[in-house]
Amino acid sequence: MTDHDVIIIGSGSVGTPTAYFLAEAGMDVLVVDELASSGQGQNKAAIGGARATHSDPAKIMTCSRSLEIFSTWKERTGTDIGWKQGGYCFPVYRENEEGVLKGILPIQKEHRLEIDWYDADGISRFVPGIATDGLIGGTYSPNDGQVSPLMASESFQNEAAALGARFMFNESVTGLIMEGEGDDRAVTGITLTSGEEISAESVVNAAGAHASDICRIAGLDVPILPDSHEAGITSPVKPFLDPLVVDLRPGGDGRTSNFYFGQNSEGQIIFCYTPSPLLPGEDKRATSEFMPTIARRLVGLIPRLKNLMVRRTWRGLYPMTQDGVPVVGQDPCVRGFYMGIGMCGQGLMMGPGVGESLASVIAKGRPVIDEDVFDLLSPTRDFACGQELLK
Ligand SMILES: Cc1cc2nc3c(=O)[nH]c(=O)nc-3n(C[C@H](O)[C@H](O)[C@H](O)COP(=O)(O)OP(=O)(O)OC[C@H]3O[C@@H](n4cnc5c(N)ncnc54)[C@H](O)[C@@H]3O)c2cc1C
Repeated sequence: MTDHDVIIIGSGSVGTPTAYFLAEAGMDVLVVDELASSGQGQNKAAIGGARATHSDPAKIMTCSRSLEIFSTWKERTGTDIGWKQGGYCFPVYRENEEGVLKGILPIQKEHRLEIDWYDADGISRFVPGIATDGLIGGTYSPNDGQVSPLMASESFQNEAAALGARFMFNESVTGLIMEGEGDDRAVTGITLTSGEEISAESVVNAAGAHASDICRIAGLDVPILPDSHEAGITSPVKPFLDPLVVDLRPGGDGRTSNFYFGQNSEGQIIFCYTPSPLLPGEDKRATSEFMPTIARRLVGLIPRLKNLMVRRTWRGLYPMTQDGVPVVGQDPCVRGFYMGIGMCGQGLMMGPGVGESLASVIAKGRPVIDEDVFDLLSPTRDFACGQELLK
């Protein structure tokens, strides 16, 4: 007899939807998070982009499930999570990005994504006011969209709790209860800071940027290395921009590689860039260079954005893996220990799809998406082989 069927460490972008799907499958679930409520880790740092437009088949299939879940959530539960289906647009000004995006179109189409290449006129229609000088064209995928990270997290928590899941906040998991040794060991519960032990048939590591620490306690070396990214949001303006826009060009400013932005369901423009070089570590202090740098890029791409009023900025972490692909599943040497970690810059969009498949693996022994594709996320894969191109 155990205290619970499943304990989830972390109530973030992954842990909270996982709790919902486990509870829906009839399992007795406990979620433990060291913060005060769900979604308060890196989940709330996300700008809300949700796309299935990736180059890795497992990410495409998992995020396709997430899009299905986000887009039908209001129907399913009656709760608004800020879902807006405005698509994703990748405008292209250089042959380099044209080659990358056209190169992955076949694999995206093979996995049933609705996505196409459009010429400059087409892209100007999707992104009104975009600079047309040198614009070659780009891709547009209408089924992608945006969601509010905090509204989604709160709703997943409420719905999971309504199905019987328990949430324990302000409690840190400091240890795992282990049985056996060598390649035949099992995780049978957790230890809290207070020393309290709680047992379960299965434990899910959904600890985000600190997931490697939990793996290490289980005797597994799964490097999840956080790097930090900054974002900001404006006051709301009248809706004028449907898609979330990703400009893959390096900035030429010595500070940025790609940048991305969109107008959320409340009319605010929400934006972010990938720093160059990357900033490894956990520093979450906002910088003074972020706003001038991103403002130049935003206004350079869409001049009319110069009239916006910025409300606030923040900085958070991407929990990165070596190949830009998350780690989901079980290590065969440690029974009862599941991972939903290493979400990189896409944990919000991966969360529901990962949670649904993880819950299905635990409850029924098989993922929701094709098993061969799901295995591409395995912790035992070769991390040196392949790279997600749109991470
Ligand atoms: C600026 C920025 C913009 C982003 N934009 C997007 C976007 O548009 N779309 C997108 O999909 N992603 C985006 N991301 C990435 C996304 O935020 C992350 O990938 C995602 O939140 C990671 O989810 P997670 O569940 O792994 O981690 P988290 O959401 O951080 O959840 C992990 C939880 O585990 C808890 N925890 C950790 N250790 C312990 C412990 N020992 N005991 C108890 N609890 C513990 C933490 O408190 C935390 O709540 C963005 C990130 C940043 C920084």
